[in-house]
Amino acid sequence: MEDKIISVAIDGPAAAGKSTVAKKVAKLLGFTYIDTGAMYRAVTYAVIKRGLDPKDERQSETVLPGLKIDLLPDGRVICNGDDVTTVIREPLVSGNVSYIASFKNIRLALVDMQREMAKCRSVVMDGRDIGTYVLPEADVKIYQIASVETRAVRRYEENLAKGIPTTLKEVEEDVRTRDRIDSGRAFAPLKPAPDSVLIDTSFMSVDQAVDAVLAVIKEKTGVTPQC
Ligand code: C5P
Repeated sequence: MEDKIISVAIDGPAAAGKSTVAKKVAKLLGFTYIDTGAMYRAVTYAVIKRGLDPKDERQSETVLPGLKIDLLPDGRVICNGDDVTTVIREPLVSGNVSYIASFKNIRLALVDMQREMAKCRSVVMDGRDIGTYVLPEADVKIYQIASVETRAVRRYEENLAKGIPTTLKEVEEDVRTRDRIDSGRAFAPLKPAPDSVLIDTSFMSVDQAVDAVLAVIKEKTGVTPQC
């Protein structure tokens, strides 16, 4: 008998550590990790690269025809043939991505791609609207949060390690602004699904957060890491 396809949705505000946890959980379970934020970031970069205004819906939508985004198993993000893995983490993209993500046609196009990716394989998908909109039938829904101060420090340290020049103050402002736009948008806003399990990682290590998510997955599906 074929194994059942399982989907795990991990939503939450900016820099809550979702991708770090989701990546590890996916690896331990042998599932595919899908970073939907990277997709919105890739579109934002495509808009900026073409000299278009990422705050202008009409202009931004013009990148959609023929748009191709590949999330490779090694974590690289390829957009229309360009490796955009590093550039999509830079402040110019982070500072504009929430405008792009509020445009309905752009969301619809990316949601189609995301649903397609989850059709034939087990996934851990992280984002803002996975449990509420992209995969409303997900087997497991986690809403991962942490205090804004914790999130800002974590993202600042990540940026330092990646050689992306930012200050802690800039990162905290970016996190607050994105949360406000992501929660306030009309279409598929950031909010916990009613059937999601809340995990506050403010005082958790990465391993503790991974264990907490694995425990929920075990409880809901019976699936555990094999080794
Ligand atoms: O996850 P990450 O912080 O990289 O996401 C970047 C931005 O993409 C978010 O701030 C949000 O505006 C948008 N996003 C979204 N829906 C998702 C994933 C990300 O609106 N499912």
